[in-house]
Amino acid sequence: MNLDDVPDDLSAVLFTEEQITTRIRELAARIDQDYADRNPLMVGILNGAVMIMADLSRALSIHCEMDWMAISSYGSGVSSSGVVRILKDMNTSVVGRHVLIVEDIVDTGLTLAYLIENLKSRNPASIEVCAGFRKPEAQRNEVEVKYLGFDIPSDFVVGYGLDYAGRYRNLRGLGILSPSVYS
Ligand code: 5GP
Repeated sequence: MNLDDVPDDLSAVLFTEEQITTRIRELAARIDQDYADRNPLMVGILNGAVMIMADLSRALSIHCEMDWMAISSYGSGVSSSGVVRILKDMNTSVVGRHVLIVEDIVDTGLTLAYLIENLKSRNPASIEVCAGFRKPEAQRNEVEVKYLGFDIPSDFVVGYGLDYAGRYRNLRGLGILSPSVYS
């Protein structure tokens, strides 16, 4: 789905597919260097990180492994519940592994803060975070995102894996959801 397929649903376009692709390639180049010969275990957070995981992993020149976790977050609303719960755990052991958490967006940072603590307790060799987008609120929880796509305003956004009520994940690009869609 293209941004101009849903012009009335977006109050603004933040990034086109091309802008996101360019940025993902830059992040991949850094990860290639930082993780050369380290066979990173990339842990994608379902469902939103599917797009960034697919693009980032294919932009890498090094080998990597992929696994997935599902964490409770917004449901079908547009504000954080603050409740963090593992709905699906990984299949791979992280003991001694270089773990790279791949997240769609960091809003309050609550999800990431919880995940990092949880995965640390499983004795990985290292843990870092890659996220597509970050909102200003994230600073409150001081979660370090080593590989960040873009800082964005605190509006509710959709596209590039991010949904509203299950829709818009397949939107090529990122936009601010018009309040007329959810009010
Ligand atoms: P946090 O725990 O950082 O507040 O929230 C992280 C999760 O909330 C993200 O993984 C994502 O699923 C959801 N989220 C946060 N902001 C947005 C947004 O603007 N749009 C959508 N669709 N989901 C969001």
